[in-house]
Amino acid sequence: MPINTANGPIEAHALGRTLMHEHLVIGMPGWESDSQAPAPDFRDMVAACVDRVEELKAAGFSTILDPCPNDLGRNADLIGEVATRTGFNVVFATGLYNEHHGGSPYWNMVFATDPDADKRLCDLFVDEIQNGVRGAGIKPGVIKIGTSNPPFSDYEKRVFKAAAMASIATGVPITTHTDIVLGDEQLAFLTALGVPASQIIIGHCCCSGDHDYHMRIVDGGAFIGFDRFGILYPRSDEQRIESLMRLRQDDALGSVIISHDTVCSWLGDMFPPAIMAKFNLTHHPLHFTRTIAPKLKTAGMSEAEIESMLIDNPRRYFGGAGG
Ligand SMILES: [Zn+2]
Repeated sequence: MPINTANGPIEAHALGRTLMHEHLVIGMPGWESDSQAPAPDFRDMVAACVDRVEELKAAGFSTILDPCPNDLGRNADLIGEVATRTGFNVVFATGLYNEHHGGSPYWNMVFATDPDADKRLCDLFVDEIQNGVRGAGIKPGVIKIGTSNPPFSDYEKRVFKAAAMASIATGVPITTHTDIVLGDEQLAFLTALGVPASQIIIGHCCCSGDHDYHMRIVDGGAFIGFDRFGILYPRSDEQRIESLMRLRQDDALGSVIISHDTVCSWLGDMFPPAIMAKFNLTHHPLHFTRTIAPKLKTAGMSEAEIESMLIDNPRRYFGGAGG
């Protein structure tokens, strides 16, 4: 099945080297209430994103997955413009974030008042995938959902159910956010509803050092996100490398996707400049290629194994089990 990108459908073999979790723009709900923050300038944001994409192209990448859900400032006009100007593959998302940090005040009200709310949410995801995002017209190629701290809330389960139904109806895969735990529960919930495990990425698994947790998800048939390289909390890059080498011992590298969870443009002004400056020292979408891959090679991983995580694993995820 062709994959929706912001420049139109492509086949899985055309993905090339892919970073599976990088953001062009993010705005945490509430950003628009900060009238003291610099007003977002569409032209400036596009320019910053184009520069970043050109850097990735020069380094041999041809695709990013931007899994920003609808309620974290997703801007389809901007994504479309960046993709048009660069010719780069940007696979972007439809979906909703977790209850704690997402747009839950709005959707909880819908759930409380509309007896058809579950269908309405599923239809929203399906309509965006099949007909494009209102205004921009471009079509999402992935569904993004998430949990935060336990328990897996009723709200999140309703969102997961709508996402599962939309994924089954359209064949579009799912990628998730986790806060260290609950990934195995997410996987069990989605597969019980009929989503093939091979079309699920459990995000941010590298924030956990629990090898058994990683292997439960791998053995369940899903992909695990080592998608926060360069974010030195709650674990260092060295700890993430250790976990990856342990997965290699168990022959599990075929289930790992690689990324950094960078944000090119933030809406609002959430972080003081000193914190951003420190953060930016390591948090760049080429950090894996420049800094982590050489360390993996020193630890014994081959170039072919590294390239396979960047090329073959994304292709299998988007292409279905046989892709
Ligand atoms: Zn993210």
